[in-house]
Amino acid sequence: MSASGALRLPSIDGLLRHPACLPLLERHGRESLLAGLRQLLDELRSSVLSGQLSAVEISPEVLAGRVGERLAQQQRSQVRRVFNLTGTVLHTNLGRALLPDEAIEAVHMAARYPLNLEFDLASGKRGDRDDLIEGLIRELTGAEAVTVVNNNAAAVLLTLNSLGARKEGIISRGELIEIGGAFRIPDIMARAGVRLHEVGTTNRTHARDYEAAISPRSGLIMRVHASNYSIEGFTARVPTAELAALAHRHGLPLLEDLGSGSLLDLTRWGLPAEPTVRQALLDGADIVTFSGDKLLGGPQAGLIVGRKELIAKIKKNPLKRALRVDKLTLAALEAVLGLYRDPDRLAERLPSLRLLTRPQADIFAQASRLQPALAEVLGSVWQVSAVEALGMIGSGSQPVARLPSAALCCRPQVSKRLRGRYLLSLEAALRALPIPVLGRIDDDALWLDLRQLDDEPAWLGQLPHLQVNP
Ligand SMILES: *Cc1c(COP(=O)(O)O)cnc(C)c1O
Repeated sequence: MSASGALRLPSIDGLLRHPACLPLLERHGRESLLAGLRQLLDELRSSVLSGQLSAVEISPEVLAGRVGERLAQQQRSQVRRVFNLTGTVLHTNLGRALLPDEAIEAVHMAARYPLNLEFDLASGKRGDRDDLIEGLIRELTGAEAVTVVNNNAAAVLLTLNSLGARKEGIISRGELIEIGGAFRIPDIMARAGVRLHEVGTTNRTHARDYEAAISPRSGLIMRVHASNYSIEGFTARVPTAELAALAHRHGLPLLEDLGSGSLLDLTRWGLPAEPTVRQALLDGADIVTFSGDKLLGGPQAGLIVGRKELIAKIKKNPLKRALRVDKLTLAALEAVLGLYRDPDRLAERLPSLRLLTRPQADIFAQASRLQPALAEVLGSVWQVSAVEALGMIGSGSQPVARLPSAALCCRPQVSKRLRGRYLLSLEAALRALPIPVLGRIDDDALWLDLRQLDDEPAWLGQLPHLQVNP
């Protein structure tokens, strides 16, 4: 092709001044627009030279449209809301507990205004951030003292390091657990400077096993709630009260990592029994650690409660400063804990508890109501049915207990050979929606557990965008 007949890309300056680019200039600023235009023109240059593009394809309007799409894409937040229809309520990868309005307002206040984070308004002197929620946590758990850190992993690390560094930590082999990839009790112990002294066996540990391990090198006895697995059958475990008595006879503290740590007996709402923080303390545990965003239903945090002199020692550890909780979290935590003062209304006001206690009949009715809309969008290749399903609490609480729930079950009506591909493409299409919808694939079907679908209009409103391309 002759050089004279070749098309030429518009100049950057010309484009910047072109009316098609003005709204982009307004929205994204000169710097971003310039970078976007440069990048696009660079990419197109060789195709233009080789004559692969038409005049329309390099018109200012089309180029502005393409740059506009890219800039919008770049500007879109990476933190996205999703619909958690996996059936797992406290889903660690999806942010665990949802905060109640009271906590959201408290976060808003703490974000917007200066506050008495470490300032005692009564005396006008420097305060301690733990003081803001100590009274409330003492009231709700019966603990003598409290300190709060970034999460429960931090709570365990800090407690072990404060009470057991350079000494031995005695723990049952059945409790040397891994909680999601990087958190393993033996590793945390090592990082905390505590020498692991494991006792008993995986399924059975007796009081005499602990007793035999105690020596002048011992620093503490630890008990870990086996969060995400269960041992059944021929098992033995020393009750907390007995273990505490044993520890105290030898002058050792008993540390109990409860994980979920519920503040109230969940059986009053028909949920599986979970040890409460108050009971662990009553049984004699000297320190109890638990998460803020699991069954408690609050923000990510690690709560350390227990005996006053031990908490004082923990608070003096320089690591406490590195692991401390921030003001937004504290504000949210105080608001959530406040709701526990009125247990009768807790299930209405605390979203995680409201979702966990949603009756199956309710969820099933919702599934039946939504079934026709999804069936219509998916077309005849898919059989969509409202069915009973089993969900779970998540975050290690009651790993074997199942929550009776209901789901929209989508089965591709294709040969067995093609089913996997169809299911993956439906899963991907649901993820590509403006508010991504996350379900789970099981038994040759894609399940959308509706326990957590409370924004029905938003969910229905985006169904027309669903495009499944197997
Ligand atoms: C979840 C859990 C942890 C970790 O808590 P995070 O708040 O996620 O850091 C530690 N121990 C137990 C027993 C747990 O269940």
